Amino acid sequence: MKFVDEYRDAEGTARLAEAIGRATTRPHAIMEICGGQTHAIMRFGLDTLLPDGITLIHGPGCPVCVTPVVQIDRAIALASWPGVVLCSFGDMMRVPGSGQDLLGARARGGDVRMVYSPLDAVRLAKEQPERQVVFFAIGFETTAPANALAVKQARALGLDNFSILSSHVLVPPAMEAILGAPDCRVNGFLAAGHVCTVMGFTQYEPIAVRYRTPIVVTGFEPVDILQGILCCVRQLESGRAGVENAYRRSVQREGNPSARALLEEVFEPAPQQWRGLGEIPGSGLALRAAWRDFDACRRFELGDITAEESTECISGQILQGLKRPGECPAFGTRCTPEHPLGAPMVSGEGACAAYYRYRRNAAPEAGGEGVSP
Ligand code: SF4
Repeated sequence: MKFVDEYRDAEGTARLAEAIGRATTRPHAIMEICGGQTHAIMRFGLDTLLPDGITLIHGPGCPVCVTPVVQIDRAIALASWPGVVLCSFGDMMRVPGSGQDLLGARARGGDVRMVYSPLDAVRLAKEQPERQVVFFAIGFETTAPANALAVKQARALGLDNFSILSSHVLVPPAMEAILGAPDCRVNGFLAAGHVCTVMGFTQYEPIAVRYRTPIVVTGFEPVDILQGILCCVRQLESGRAGVENAYRRSVQREGNPSARALLEEVFEPAPQQWRGLGEIPGSGLALRAAWRDFDACRRFELGDITAEESTECISGQILQGLKRPGECPAFGTRCTPEHPLGAPMVSGEGACAAYYRYRRNAAPEAGGEGVSP
């Protein structure tokens, strides 16, 4: 398959792994931001090709995983609201809130529907003017333009029965929060290629300089990921800390100007709660004043919903790269994809799901981990 096979090429992969080995003279910890990259690393065993000195740390780039419990509870409250249809992507359906998940809300009579696009929800609102349709708008900068488009289309169609529950998150403030934490052990980042396809990478330049940390824009296939690691290692070894684009076939420096303009017309930065990470200033997207009548939280009197995160699930530490899934006592026992205790075990991009799928039979290592370092 063009644009896939050549980036899974065994010879190219081996060549890059050797180059990383030659370039590495001391330990480096590199965080891949995106859960899609984590899954590719596990699926293709890329971490096993690296020299001992290179540690890959899995980052918070799974939008389902970082959606806070309180926001799931708000979605469940909306789904149970008389006359409301709550539309969501499939991944969100089984993410535990503080009491139940969206599938549970549906079983109790809530109208919860799975959609593939926010425009499906707009279409539903047009077809059912007697119902209030709410779209659960989660995701990083990659999905925000489509959600902005849905809001604009709803207004163009004159729909007063469509709104969104915005739970968008932005990558650069999260990277800064990770780098600013006292226990941070990240020496370099692989930035998420699809986010940069939309946003470009100029936002990362001040971060790389301020924290003296290399940031390499990286894709999702084995050759892409190893190329990103090689660029990062070369910077670390030579004492440089800049932004490099190792995903040129998709990413331009300025990103996609049309998508950015759409996003910036409808949304503005806002404080955002992250599961396990707490509130990060400027790390979310709220509807601008001109579009606020599409804000589900304003349209419905949800009251003051508060929620506690599970005390058993250590997803907060996993999302910060402080622990690995195998270090969670519930991993593979009380927490499985069939019976998840936390979002990282549910999501197709979650780190716990990746380890469960590709590493759960790995021999336990010294220190008790059932996963590779
Ligand atoms: S294994 Fe389950 S309980 Fe443990 S951190 Fe992952 S999602 Fe949470």
